[in-house]
Amino acid sequence: MRHPITADTRLAGRLTRLHRRYFKPDDPHGWADYHCVEEPEGTFWVHTHGLRRWRLPDLEFVGVAHDMVSYAQQMLFEIIADAKSRLPLAAESDIEGIFSAPLQSFRQMATLRWAPNDDPDHRESLRIVDWGHPVESGFPRRLFASHIAAWADLAEDPARKEALCRRALALFPGCFLEMGAGAEIVPGKADLTDLQHRANLQVYLSLAQALFDQDRPAEATAYLEEAIARCPGWAQTYRDYLVKKYRRKDAFMNFWRAADLKEICARRRPANTSGPLPRRKPKTATRKRKAPARRKTA
Ligand SMILES: [Zn+2]
Repeated sequence: MRHPITADTRLAGRLTRLHRRYFKPDDPHGWADYHCVEEPEGTFWVHTHGLRRWRLPDLEFVGVAHDMVSYAQQMLFEIIADAKSRLPLAAESDIEGIFSAPLQSFRQMATLRWAPNDDPDHRESLRIVDWGHPVESGFPRRLFASHIAAWADLAEDPARKEALCRRALALFPGCFLEMGAGAEIVPGKADLTDLQHRANLQVYLSLAQALFDQDRPAEATAYLEEAIARCPGWAQTYRDYLVKKYRRKDAFMNFWRAADLKEICARRRPANTSGPLPRRKPKTATRKRKAPARRKTA
């Protein structure tokens, strides 16, 4: 699709870009032209021109909602900055973990596909889509939900955190995973990438935290129940871990101590998707006994 180039289309004019390239050589703003073009649906096509100069492919997002445009540009900067220093960008490959907040225990994942643009100005671009998804899937809503979750993680103001989480849920509410999902994790050390990608798990946890912080425990526990219903196996393992680790009696811990996971799943999961919770692995019990031995070997 061809498009007119106006002041609205370009993130910055040529002079600004050149100024940045020469005087702020580390700033990805100066490495390419960033275009943002309205699509017939009212969403935006955010894309680059000029990355060949750095032996990188041009990149694009399609279907970007108006309030997500600046996040899309920011992700492009971060992907490009990382690519320029170390990460090759190839079609039909995955990119990961390059736009994470420090406290996240999941990687943000996306896949690069050849963009079906045949006009000469936008040929050979790569479209950033959700991890493992086809090029037609368009806007990577799971990726943006994870990206917003990272910002929510960093937000100190609980009202701001709440707003970001709600936006992430509007982008991607998450799926109800199989009953055993996440049962294998080791809480505290687990990589939650898969659960985040499929169920948007972190957003439910962050939203619950934001609501507890605003003294709205009933709403908070409703979102914890949503997280449990989506990832029952994880919830069982996580609950065992919390109850063993913490003695405190705040609303969060009281909820987990009292939570009837089976009942929550029966009530909150779509009809006919509930079943028995996964069996607890005997490993959990032996790990405790093994702890002193581990200290000896250290
Ligand atoms: Zn363009």
